[in-house]
Amino acid sequence: MPVKLYDTLARSNQTLSQPDGRPFYFYCCGPTVYGPAHIGNFRTFLIQDVLRRVLEIDGFNVKHVRNITDVDDKTIRESQAKNQSLKAFTEHWTEKFHADCHSLNLLPPSIEPKAVDHIKEQIQLVEQLIEKNHAYVEKDGSVYFRVHSCCDYGKLNRIDQSELKSQTENSAGSTNLADEYDRESISDFALWKARKDEDGDSYWTSPWGEGRPGWHLECSAMIHRTFEGQTIDLHGGGIDLCFPHHENEIAQSESAYEKTLCTHWFHSAHLRVENKKMSKSLGNLYTLDDLIAKNHTPMALRYTLIASSYRQPLNFTFDGLRASESALNKIERFTETLLQKIHQSTEQFNEQYITKHSLKDFGLLQNAWEGLSNNLNTSACLGSLFGLIGSNLASKLNADETEQLLKALGSILYALGLTLFTSPKQTSEAPQAILDLAKERWEAKQNKDYAKADSLRKSLQDDGWDVKDTPTDYELFPLNK
Ligand code: AMP
Ligand code: ZN
Repeated sequence: MPVKLYDTLARSNQTLSQPDGRPFYFYCCGPTVYGPAHIGNFRTFLIQDVLRRVLEIDGFNVKHVRNITDVDDKTIRESQAKNQSLKAFTEHWTEKFHADCHSLNLLPPSIEPKAVDHIKEQIQLVEQLIEKNHAYVEKDGSVYFRVHSCCDYGKLNRIDQSELKSQTENSAGSTNLADEYDRESISDFALWKARKDEDGDSYWTSPWGEGRPGWHLECSAMIHRTFEGQTIDLHGGGIDLCFPHHENEIAQSESAYEKTLCTHWFHSAHLRVENKKMSKSLGNLYTLDDLIAKNHTPMALRYTLIASSYRQPLNFTFDGLRASESALNKIERFTETLLQKIHQSTEQFNEQYITKHSLKDFGLLQNAWEGLSNNLNTSACLGSLFGLIGSNLASKLNADETEQLLKALGSILYALGLTLFTSPKQTSEAPQAILDLAKERWEAKQNKDYAKADSLRKSLQDDGWDVKDTPTDYELFPLNK
């Protein structure tokens, strides 16, 4: 069964296919690094991670690009408030984001471009738009995209141009006043924002004077750069990004490069907390650390955030989190029984079984796999797994069949990004220098620089630490403890 996904542009489920002669191009709008990502952000990043894993199990070669937004109104405002340079401030929160991704077992993207490293490309894109009369410079040196110059503006959100008012409300219904500058038409949006006093040192020189890029611009420029000007296959983000962000990306890219930006669009619904919109003022905006401090595990959070349909808003509750803990427990007990049948221990399970196995079919878990292939129906997948756990079918299998079932289970868990039998990771207890060394070693290993990876492991051992690799990840543990 081919992998199908609901495409926001087509408004229907579409089959995804591996292009000939190049990887499947998948771009996701990444985090704005002005503080720790909240669990809502992770709902979106996790479902993107599950999709990538499902595609890879299905044999796709995925080039997954997720950017870092390290220049916008919020990063500038917060870095000034903390009296830090934009660079130091955003690097700190980028590191924290990476650490949380690691704990939640997200696969690192193939490339993670940063907006500030692509200012030149963003300026070039604005120049092209001005040259083609799709953009204009205002008196203060800001540059705007002329929405009415783009005849199919609104195609992703099916907005009639005559109804277009302002760019201030996004598709999740939140208001954003940040783009309110002078412009020809209220629907025009900023490509380049002239320098203001409150920007401090965060400005760059451009043909229109000092300033900085508008937020929408970065993704268009980075997609063009990282995918070498080709139409990409899939673009993802939370539902709030559908308008105006993705609509504006399409307008900028297609007007400048005269080529379709992307074939399929993938949006996930928002996470709410105790049935309310998450917000700092309501005190219901949780981060991973908040939940760890309450003795919950990253795996239980991962399970909670991916277990229901990504197209429906999810209501996060602590009861739900506890239910995930008990569901994971049940999967562990079931797996343990299977392992005992073939005289294997739980210790090697993650390493040995949770990976992309080449299987003819998923046997007793075929329906679980088909659930995942069918628009990431994770609840159907888990429903079918629990159906098997509740039946006595597995107890009737012989040793070979049990091993096959363990492989199918390992593949399903790989797709969901769940690991079993792991005590909370030791990683957070290690000093920063050790965390950095371990990360550098993992990156060297991913880049197949084994000599460097070995020498970094030796340094770690000299400092009293070692690492254990899993197919997708590593764990750091202290020696002699
Ligand atoms: P940001 O860091 O605000 O740029 O957002 C990073 C990602 O998280 C984007 O794809 C957003 O659409 C997504 N996002 C923001 N809030 C939520 C939420 N409450 N639930 C799910 N995804 C969200
Ligand atoms: Zn974007």
